[in-house]
Amino acid sequence: MRSLNTDAVVLRSRDFQDTHRIVTFITRDHGKITTMARHARHSKKRFANCLEPCSVVKITFTPKANKTLWHLDHGILCKDPTPVRSNIDIFTTHCLICEIMDLMCPLAEPIPGLYELIEDSFNQLTKNDPLLVEHFIVFLTRFLGIMGYAPQLSHCFKCHTPLSSHAIWFFSPDNGSIVCPLCSHKIYSKLNRVCAGTIKTLIAIRQLRLSRAFALKWTLEIKIQAIEMLIDFLVQRLTIKPRSLSMFYDLLKTTS
Ligand SMILES: [Zn+2]
Repeated sequence: MRSLNTDAVVLRSRDFQDTHRIVTFITRDHGKITTMARHARHSKKRFANCLEPCSVVKITFTPKANKTLWHLDHGILCKDPTPVRSNIDIFTTHCLICEIMDLMCPLAEPIPGLYELIEDSFNQLTKNDPLLVEHFIVFLTRFLGIMGYAPQLSHCFKCHTPLSSHAIWFFSPDNGSIVCPLCSHKIYSKLNRVCAGTIKTLIAIRQLRLSRAFALKWTLEIKIQAIEMLIDFLVQRLTIKPRSLSMFYDLLKTTS
């Protein structure tokens, strides 16, 4: 097969045998791909500084008949990684985004909007004084929507009461849906208490242009409720906790 070029972000990278590396990317044109970078640990010329997680790169690769492991020809670093790597909180947020994408995206299936979302999210997170938790909430809300896992936020999933009927609601991570206060007494799995304002903010994030969503103003209450319900829902979907999550919890404690 012939070689192809694409923009990409490194999601994961690990050594293989003595000299090679296996590198997983999210790409602009081909979805998530996993590649073998042969002799990468000795070839600084073909892969100069561009195989580390969270790096924004341009790559040339050769697909194979199977989807699982393609051949990485070379890569070029496109964006100075210093702003990300010199700040532990920014790096942690980048790592969590990469890990979630790696865990949830299928191999070699282009999904419209996915690459643009990680590109825009990374740009947002490296601006001056980024709102890391708020911007992560925007990323995660849009990502779940793109992947077809958007939580149901318009009405109680048991009695169909609309959102406008109550000021206080509950969210069921198990069901991925909001529950009204009356029906909450009939649910025996974990529920997150959330105000209607939090739910409306998450609905707005889905509907607004991404730049407007990143510019939203947040109260501390809405931020905390939104991040808790989204992370509980994500972990429920994934059935495992992303490894970067514990460091992100530390970041949450310092920003709230
Ligand atoms: Zn109900």
